[in-house]
Amino acid sequence: MHALLVEDDDRMAQALITALAQRGHTVRRAGRALDALRWVHEAEFVLLDLGLPDLDGLELLRRLRTVCDAPLIVVTARCEERDIVQGLRAGADDYVVKPFRMNELMARIDTVRRRTGAAAPRADGADRGGCPVHTGDVEIDIAGRTVTVAGADVRLTRREFDVLAFLAARPGEVHSREEILDRIWGDAFLAASRSLDVHVAGIRAKTGRAELVRTVRGFGYQLGSPAVGTDGRGRR
Ligand code: CA
Repeated sequence: MHALLVEDDDRMAQALITALAQRGHTVRRAGRALDALRWVHEAEFVLLDLGLPDLDGLELLRRLRTVCDAPLIVVTARCEERDIVQGLRAGADDYVVKPFRMNELMARIDTVRRRTGAAAPRADGADRGGCPVHTGDVEIDIAGRTVTVAGADVRLTRREFDVLAFLAARPGEVHSREEILDRIWGDAFLAASRSLDVHVAGIRAKTGRAELVRTVRGFGYQLGSPAVGTDGRGRR
């Protein structure tokens, strides 16, 4: 696989390039945000440091996400929960805090690549014959990867859509957190567990339908039946 490594620190970059090369990856290193934007189109996955000389890493992350859907892992010294949540909301698939263990980072890369390549929710969508799922005034087209609320398109991140599509594929079933984490994230590590909460919150906020994802306390989630037109969005 071809990696884009966005890292301004020479020693850190060299250690990562060596470790990636040992696992058979090719690497292009960008020391500045400007170069990352120039080269991201060729990347099959991205490792992103947030402390860069020419642009804040979170802002770069948002810009990368507008042009690139490749798996992306933030690798940074910023360890505040606020930073981690912002990074995941901006579209990172995982978040690793420095100093990290190299083997753990390499395992996380494998996990992120596996789950983004697996496309499990699409397979579930195919089982339904490609028909959109309706609940309340929400339509979820699993095959087409689109969501509308009261006829208006809602833009979810890829991971948010994967979670929603997974629930929508079997709307009558309650899914445990572990099952969702395993199917969508590929693991049930603590970081991914926090990530699930962030993504569910994102789905609720962006659709304006808090009941679209029903929390089953102490267990997991289920596709819910949102009331129509409670916040003005549903009124025509
Ligand atoms: Ca840095």
